[in-house]
Amino acid sequence: MIIDWKKEVEARREDLMNDLFSLLSIPSVREDEKATAEAPFGPGPKDALLKFLEIGKRDGFITKNVDNYAGHLEYGTGDETLGVIGHVDVVPVGPGWDSDPFTPEIREGRIYARGASDDKGPTVAAYYALKIIKELGLPVSKRTRLIVGTDEESGWECMDHYLTVEEKPDFGFSPDAEFPIINGEKGNTTIVVETAGKNEGTLNLLTFDSGMRANMVPETAEAVVEVSGDIDAFASEYQEFLEKNPVTGEVTLAGKVATLILNGQAAHGAMPEKGINAGTYLADFLSDYDFSGPAKDYVTIIADFVHTDTEGVKFGIAHEDDIMGKLSMNAGVFHFDHQKDVNTITLNFRYPKGMTGKEIETTIQEKLVHTTAKAVEQPGGKAPHYVPMTDPLVQTLLATYEDHTGLKGHEQVIGGGTFGRLLERGVAYGAMFPHSIDTMHQKNEFMAVDDLINATIIYADAIYRLIK
Ligand code: ZN
Ligand code: ZN
Repeated sequence: MIIDWKKEVEARREDLMNDLFSLLSIPSVREDEKATAEAPFGPGPKDALLKFLEIGKRDGFITKNVDNYAGHLEYGTGDETLGVIGHVDVVPVGPGWDSDPFTPEIREGRIYARGASDDKGPTVAAYYALKIIKELGLPVSKRTRLIVGTDEESGWECMDHYLTVEEKPDFGFSPDAEFPIINGEKGNTTIVVETAGKNEGTLNLLTFDSGMRANMVPETAEAVVEVSGDIDAFASEYQEFLEKNPVTGEVTLAGKVATLILNGQAAHGAMPEKGINAGTYLADFLSDYDFSGPAKDYVTIIADFVHTDTEGVKFGIAHEDDIMGKLSMNAGVFHFDHQKDVNTITLNFRYPKGMTGKEIETTIQEKLVHTTAKAVEQPGGKAPHYVPMTDPLVQTLLATYEDHTGLKGHEQVIGGGTFGRLLERGVAYGAMFPHSIDTMHQKNEFMAVDDLINATIIYADAIYRLIK
């Protein structure tokens, strides 16, 4: 049977836009301060979920609301289940918008609204794809569940809960990234190196602070040091250090106490080599001085194992995989206070297949054996995820993409995470095209109407090929 998917989507263009606009009008930002048992992430995410399920019910789908955490629409019967997993929550608005983020409007062929491209637009595209298959009465041999979460942008608690209540689909995709496909996602873990706070050298490190989040390169760092020797010499050595390195900063003196400020360059923690880590530069300077005990360990570990090494070479954890690329390490947060028993260096890792977070922790601990420090892997890490090119799911999705775009499909691995990784045979698929401008999480987020229509066409054909 030859189906003119484009014609079927065009026939429903107006309905699709109306449903999308009604979802985009709901400010579905997570608000913990307004959360209740009935609305676990606040009223917005819940209202968007209810709206989505209401649309499905109107069109005759079986719908299920799983405790206002997530829900699904179901179609077809069979032993196997295809899962298509999107989300209706959005990130906060932020400043600088040219129009109201929750009053969607079309300007120059683009739908502007928070959630237009992440992820209400792509989720509605996947919905209309399934709706077309249902309305055409096409024969299918598998069940399809279109699942929507309400907490993708924070902690994925929505899908954690959903999957404890509902069965896990056998295979599927998340319409929450880009074409041609994301079939690999690096592992992600955070390891904290802890030291005590004592020090009794000729210099005392009182405090050392840098960075706000594990997944960002720190832009600034500050250390407060008590100097019993020549403090003016110490200050001028710091000025020399600043001049010799790709950083800026300043030092202020008050009696025996020097406060050092250092400015580097921020970057996303998945690409730490693009930044200049203010914390590691400041520790590198301090490591030449006579601190002692845990304080000495603290600055020396940073200087010897972390400074200017974003691939874990000095820790002995560097690893590269042909498909997933290299391990990356970002030292994102530093806190030291001489009055505290536990002081921390927070390291975030994105790692390819062939290793585990526990192995990274163990190898780092071995390197620290002659120090007072210990390495502790934090809960919540994610293992690398990869669905090979030989998997029929990947082949079908890429073939459908090639047939509709005339472009060559290829595999892609990213450092971030999508709902695709919830399924062993799960990938991310669309809805951004290679020509699309990525405005996710930014002001003036938009999705081009043409991209929305073309993604719907591809999703309809791809879902049908997967379940027929
Ligand atoms: Zn998303
Ligand atoms: Zn997002």
